[in-house]
Amino acid sequence: MSVETQKETLGFQTEVKQLLHLMIHSLYSNKEIFLRELISNASDAVDKLRFEALSRPELLEGGAELKIRVSFDKDAKTVTLEDNGIGMSREDVITHLGTIAKSGTADFMKNLSGDQKKDSHLIGQFGVGFYSAFIVADQVEVFSRRAGLPASEGVHWSSRGEGEFEVATQEKADRGTRIVLHLKSGEDEFADGYRLRNIIKKYSDHIALPIELPKEQIAVEGEPAPVQEWETVNRASALWTRPRTEVKDEEYQEFYKHIAHDFENPLSWSHNKVEGKLEYNSLLYVPARAPFDLYQREAPRGLKLYVQRVFVMDQAESFLPLYLRFIKGVVDSNDLSLNVSREILQKDPIIDSMKSALTKRVLDMLEKLAKNQPEEYKSFWKNFGQVMKEGPAEDFANKEKIASLLRFASTSDESGEQSVALSEYLARAKEGQDKIYYLTGESYAQVKNSPHLEVFRKKGIEVLLLTDRIDEWLMSYLSDFDGKGFVDVARGDLDLGKLDSEEDKKAQEEVAKDKEGLIERLKTALGEAVSEVRVSHRLTDSPAILAIGEQDLGLQMRQILEASGQKVPDSKPIFEFNPTHPLIGKLDNEQNEERFGDLSHILFDQAALAAGDSLKDPAAYVRRLNKLLVELSV
Ligand code: ADP
Repeated sequence: MSVETQKETLGFQTEVKQLLHLMIHSLYSNKEIFLRELISNASDAVDKLRFEALSRPELLEGGAELKIRVSFDKDAKTVTLEDNGIGMSREDVITHLGTIAKSGTADFMKNLSGDQKKDSHLIGQFGVGFYSAFIVADQVEVFSRRAGLPASEGVHWSSRGEGEFEVATQEKADRGTRIVLHLKSGEDEFADGYRLRNIIKKYSDHIALPIELPKEQIAVEGEPAPVQEWETVNRASALWTRPRTEVKDEEYQEFYKHIAHDFENPLSWSHNKVEGKLEYNSLLYVPARAPFDLYQREAPRGLKLYVQRVFVMDQAESFLPLYLRFIKGVVDSNDLSLNVSREILQKDPIIDSMKSALTKRVLDMLEKLAKNQPEEYKSFWKNFGQVMKEGPAEDFANKEKIASLLRFASTSDESGEQSVALSEYLARAKEGQDKIYYLTGESYAQVKNSPHLEVFRKKGIEVLLLTDRIDEWLMSYLSDFDGKGFVDVARGDLDLGKLDSEEDKKAQEEVAKDKEGLIERLKTALGEAVSEVRVSHRLTDSPAILAIGEQDLGLQMRQILEASGQKVPDSKPIFEFNPTHPLIGKLDNEQNEERFGDLSHILFDQAALAAGDSLKDPAAYVRRLNKLLVELSV
């Protein structure tokens, strides 16, 4: 062994220790995936070298035949992986194999419950990568040298996965990385050619460069040992260039795990070859689960970009809109130049037309999923529904298509799940109903019992119940669907159109006339608190309700703006009362103006509470209510 210098012992970042612990306890039933993860890294390293060598051919150091070799030693109980990719410098090794670069990792780790069963599902969200070596090994050694650095700047990294690792500088003749796994006792089954070959075939057949195993050779007595020969065990061609009909589902799934660094199978994929003015292959996947950093601004997103089979960059963000940031995949273009940069991608008109075509592909794929695999779509919606709701604002051209993919909770479904599509809603709309009714609020429990729904229940009209924080904002971008306008049932002067009969309307007008006196008294009593007082057509059981002005901000938007420290324009609600309610009858007959005032304010405050709003002066509410209670009991 060559000399080691500058040896030092360093500690893993806390998150690495947590990950290692979690991984070892989560993956014991699926140990063999360590090989897939290490091969995946080696393949990425080769991709990076190939790309960098385009502008710096000297990096190839004369060795242009790129490959991965897997070997083993039954006696020493080791498995060794070697690649001639980009390699790592000493600093690279310390950062890449000692820390986790993903933003939000610490928060993710904080969310672990300590219950191994529950937490083991989370590991899939994370992607285990290099550290998976410790599932089967109790010592891992990495020998690496960054392409372009002299042989003397090789590095030797070693760890038992128990909190620390050692690094030393050590000569390495060839560029690239060699990883030696010292198998744990009981894991020696992996030091076996047959076993390794099967694992590679199973998980890594799609890797586009050769993965070689030592060829079995029989030594002949009396003759010198034969030179080791190697044989390629995988298919070694770029999967996305093969015709769809020739690629098996399992291959698509394994390829997904490689590019997405995911652990679970994808929900769906779409593989296409485009010819004509533009030429490219694309393979797009919908993951099964939202990554933990879906809402982190700096979280990686975008596709893997290849130009004529050569890997060019990871996380090429310009090919899909932000609301589809969860899509993983590959795009391989024949039109772009190999030295394309992120800046160029942002401006190139070719990219614009690819982006709109790829966006359409994704939306079509989701439409198909919704139609053919409703259960899977439900799961998709749970994971990514909130992100899809960003769509209508970002992607005007596809607004209608995105709207058809949205799912809502509704008064027709007691479960409270977001499961109703707009097309379903319209299919069961009432005769004469030409609007889509919805109500927004804080929580399902709150909106489900809102007084705003009373008239709709009475008439049997379905109302969509929107309780995600983004919903009110979303609805400000959706004006109609399939020619039918959206109506917020808590807003403005509710007009049920043809759903109210002529008699209904006439009766309403008469009541309004009849109650003019009461309206005036209420206006005086409530004063500045309201913008208007009127008779309600929304209520059957409750005495009063607050409606939002047609142009005013809703409660959700107001709360979001207030939480972000913005000044929210002052808006006053409309006080609507139910003329048939006994309390309103009492109010109308109340001669004592002070008591009239108290009762009006109580009704107003109660209406605010029922809408999920907080009271401006809760103490005053309690005081007035108690006063009435005392009077009641004497
Ligand atoms: P990920 O691959 O998800 O980034 P890993 O923990 O698997 O996470 O690897 C961390 C980093 O270590 C990689 O991003 C890469 O920079 C580096 N690395 C791992 N394996 C190799 C390798 N065989 N050759 C070069 N670099 C590697």
